[in-house]
Amino acid sequence: MSEAPRLDRRSFLRGRIAPRPEAVRPPWSREATITTACTACGACAAACPQHIITPDADGRPAIAFSSECTFCGACAEACPEPVFDLTEPAFPHVAAIGAQCFAVHGIVCQSCGDACPEAAIRFRPRLGGPALPEIASDRCTGCGACIAACPAAAIATRVPAEAAHA
Ligand code: SF4
Ligand code: SF4
Ligand code: SF4
Repeated sequence: MSEAPRLDRRSFLRGRIAPRPEAVRPPWSREATITTACTACGACAAACPQHIITPDADGRPAIAFSSECTFCGACAEACPEPVFDLTEPAFPHVAAIGAQCFAVHGIVCQSCGDACPEAAIRFRPRLGGPALPEIASDRCTGCGACIAACPAAAIATRVPAEAAHA
């Protein structure tokens, strides 16, 4: 995952301070309960068979999509604290494709579409260049399979406005 950009002195003085990117938390957990209930014990990370839960700067769990979340539930099962709520949607985010996408720059690539278990990525043909990927947000579970598969590191997570204020 990308790290927070370093600030040069000129950007700092001009007030161009980028907000610290929010961590992606494990499925069925949210920032509020991580903050109030997580003791940073590491049980969820140890239980994850995909090895995608890593400690943040405070030792609390964050997802790094080196592989996809299979929604196995092992993290939630292992947690001894009231952090996980299985009645919630697993992730508040969906995947979003950025400008680094190879296809945008004329290089044929469909790795994300091949990796997506929900068939949420379709490729729109265009004249004069390779087809461009488009994510159907209503099908996307936020599993991160496409993020792990993208050779251009062009895919990130995006929390839709309605989920951010839920
Ligand atoms: S649901 Fe399973 S694969 Fe996904 S983060 Fe939790 S333990 Fe890992
Ligand atoms: S895998 Fe990455 S580079 Fe390839 S089409 Fe998808 S977003 Fe673009
Ligand atoms: S996050 Fe998962 S479901 Fe969503 S587009 Fe990527 S691979 Fe498909």
